[in-house]
Amino acid sequence: MKKPAATLFALFGNPLGHSLSPLMHNAAYKEMKIDATYVPVCVEHLADAIKQVQKGDIQGASITIPFKTEVIPYLDEVERSAQRIGAVNTIGHNEKGGLIGYNTDWIGLVRDVEESMEIRNKTFVILGAGGAARAAVFGIQQRGGKPLVINRTPSRGEATAREFGCPFYPLSEIGNIRADCLINTTPVGMTPHTGTSPIEKKFLGNFRWVMDVIYNPVQTQLLKDADEAGCTTLYGVGMFVHQGAEQIKLWMGMEPPRELMKQLVLEKLSEDEGN
Ligand code: NAP
Repeated sequence: MKKPAATLFALFGNPLGHSLSPLMHNAAYKEMKIDATYVPVCVEHLADAIKQVQKGDIQGASITIPFKTEVIPYLDEVERSAQRIGAVNTIGHNEKGGLIGYNTDWIGLVRDVEESMEIRNKTFVILGAGGAARAAVFGIQQRGGKPLVINRTPSRGEATAREFGCPFYPLSEIGNIRADCLINTTPVGMTPHTGTSPIEKKFLGNFRWVMDVIYNPVQTQLLKDADEAGCTTLYGVGMFVHQGAEQIKLWMGMEPPRELMKQLVLEKLSEDEGN
């Protein structure tokens, strides 16, 4: 990837809420002694925002809801994994100066899971069928794991499962399924709806590991229940930090300080939860 000439990076999304990406990226750049700034941009017209990157005013951007798929037609090149997932969460410049799109969500998820368990030959229930679910299914398959999809809307779940060649079950079947790990990729339990969980506590004994990709709150109701059911729990903060760290690696070609980034994000989230 072409080295950036100037030093502005951005987050494109709408709404952005209180995104933790600027805090995390800016702290990492400072620690890495890179003279760069990362700014949140609430985007009204994606084409205008992309033009800023094309012109080189912005060297790279993180792409979030609702633009991860919409951004694809604006790009000159889409890296293979992002193509397969059908979502781009990172854009930068390729060697020819054109725009290239990547997906770092799947690497973020896989790296976090691998800190707790080996993926190869393990079975994974992926709850949900949206962008995060597709990143999870792709990542698990890349590492030799066996995912199956469970989704509220059967047609969407079936379509995702078919595309990746894995089984689909309707949500009503969750109590009958055993797997090594459950990964929630639905937004159920996210702030401000923190008391809710996408699956009943009595079913959590069917899994040894339970991961939630939600990172706000840090410990979702699902993870509280899973903890009480004796499962090993994986917080979404890990995935969030790794997907951001992989963006920095793509843009700067350097390894970022992941532990520092995680510590900062956890501190900020616990501060917010205390208020
Ligand atoms: P999405 O494309 O909108 O997909 C959401 C999925 O959740 C759909 O399959 C939807 O099912 C299901 N769902 C929504 N509400 C539900 C409910 N009340 N009950 C059961 N299922 C429900 O969203 P996404 O982009 O995949 O993002 C999902 C979550 O992942 C968000 O919370 C996001 O913040 C998080 N995320 C985290 C990271 C990280 O780094 N930790 C990275 C990416 C995303 P239907 O098909 O039935 O509508």
